[in-house]
Amino acid sequence: MTPNPHIGIIGAGISGLRCADILIQNGVRVTILEARDRIGGRVHQSTVGGHVVDLGPNWIHGAGENPIRTIGEETGTVIYDPEGGRHVTYSRDGYPITDEVSTKVQDFVWTTIAEAFQYSNDHGVNIPVERSLFDFFRERLQQTNFTDEEKQLCLDACRLWGAYVGDQVDKQSLKFFHLEECVDGSNFIVASTYKRILDHIAKTAIAKANIRLNEPVTSIKAPPRNNQSQAKHQVTITTATGTDYTFDQVVVTCPLGWLKQNTSAFSPTLPPRLEQAIKNISYGRLEKLYVTFPRAFWHTNTTSTSPKTRTRNTVFAQFLEPSYTPHPNIEWNQECVSLASLPEPHAHPTLLFYTYGDGGAEIINRLGGLAPSSLEYRESIIQTLQPFYSRLPGYSAENPDCVPVALLATQWQKDVFAGNGSYSNFQVGVEEADVDVEVIRSGDGIGPLRGLWFAGEHTAPFVALGTTTGAFWSGERVARLVCRGFGIGDGGVEVKDDSLPSEDVS
Ligand SMILES: Cc1cc2nc3c(=O)[nH]c(=O)nc-3n(C[C@H](O)[C@H](O)[C@H](O)COP(=O)(O)OP(=O)(O)OC[C@H]3O[C@@H](n4cnc5c(N)ncnc54)[C@H](O)[C@@H]3O)c2cc1C
Repeated sequence: MTPNPHIGIIGAGISGLRCADILIQNGVRVTILEARDRIGGRVHQSTVGGHVVDLGPNWIHGAGENPIRTIGEETGTVIYDPEGGRHVTYSRDGYPITDEVSTKVQDFVWTTIAEAFQYSNDHGVNIPVERSLFDFFRERLQQTNFTDEEKQLCLDACRLWGAYVGDQVDKQSLKFFHLEECVDGSNFIVASTYKRILDHIAKTAIAKANIRLNEPVTSIKAPPRNNQSQAKHQVTITTATGTDYTFDQVVVTCPLGWLKQNTSAFSPTLPPRLEQAIKNISYGRLEKLYVTFPRAFWHTNTTSTSPKTRTRNTVFAQFLEPSYTPHPNIEWNQECVSLASLPEPHAHPTLLFYTYGDGGAEIINRLGGLAPSSLEYRESIIQTLQPFYSRLPGYSAENPDCVPVALLATQWQKDVFAGNGSYSNFQVGVEEADVDVEVIRSGDGIGPLRGLWFAGEHTAPFVALGTTTGAFWSGERVARLVCRGFGIGDGGVEVKDDSLPSEDVS
């Protein structure tokens, strides 16, 4: 064993930074090779209309036993539970359905989601691989005594769950829907953005790791396991700048979407089962569109200071597939959250739209290579979203308050270092997604490769796949395994087994 190992980490996202943190605190030397000119990966902020916003995650999913929430508290990050806020659903004809029907529809959707998790957990083994979450919704709906109109509303509304899984729900595997379940507890919006959380996780790495930015890794050579001749079994990394690095071991945190496109970067070739696992798990397409107005015109209850009255303002708006405006022949619903409802001083007159799957891809393709400062960029987003936000209360085409002052669209699908997508998901056809995740996680232990580990949201504990929490835990887990392998363990840092969900503790 190398007494003072040098570990290379590919990627400075949450998983890579957390991995570096634990390794460094245990006395390990760490170099991080990051393709971009910044750290954070999918956790990143920009500004729209002078307001700082998250381009990637802006929720903490399941704020129960969640280290990201704890970090949020420690760093003074402001979080907000929008649950009590007013939720308005616009039907296909563009008019809000009554609160009574809306509540009935939302109750159905959320009850059915809970039942689908339970059903997937209990009967996963016997569920055919082609059965989708949408099939489950349809079947459950048949068992209700809803009117035909209510049934259609429920079906339309459940499609919006696509924004959670990052693709259409008719593609979401029912068999493995349980892998989408999150840590218990409420979902919180991170009102003051993820910035302080990221800064906190990155602190040790920034202080003590050698972080090499603008170093996209192109080749990873691991020593074959049967190679007894090498005194040191080092992993060699080559980057696009032509630089070679050698490390005792390497942790690869590149997103699943990147791995899918770059299995040829590994030599010797990855074991077939590992390659298969990378292929089997899907990669979602969630994008965000921010539209800032001079004033939150949809907040029609502005005079009252009573919290009760203020909650009558629209916090969530769901726009079901519109029949009143032409659109491409693909799923074209929209969902937005009002950032004007955030606690002060973080509130601003911005609507955040979540768009996913084919619809999201179409919107991003329309933007092509347009500069965000260009008139065409602005017009493209307005043309897409105006048919939706114009249905909100208080809208008038003549009112200057209803004309966007700033617009911003994410384009993760165009971002090779985000794997051309958003986060992993589990689509129909996948046969053993849980084993696939375990295979990718098993890293160094698998096949002929030595000294190579995988971390990242796609290797997270099952309760946190696809989330920042999962990325954090995955980096922590690999760091712990590396330390154990080198016989390092009590470098003054508690690497708690119980900080990880039990299914992941090895
Ligand atoms: C639009 C969107 C919304 C989301 N919303 C939420 C949310 O609300 N809540 C939540 O919990 N999660 C959310 N997520 C998911 C969350 O962002 C991720 O799970 C998490 O940030 C992943 O961290 P990671 O370290 O695994 O990967 P990343 O953050 O992607 O880090 C990987 C790093 O590797 C680098 N890299 C890639 N290829 C190379 C290479 N060849 N060489 C060197 N470096 C490379 C990348 O630049 C990146 O810095 C969202 C994601 C997106 C895109």
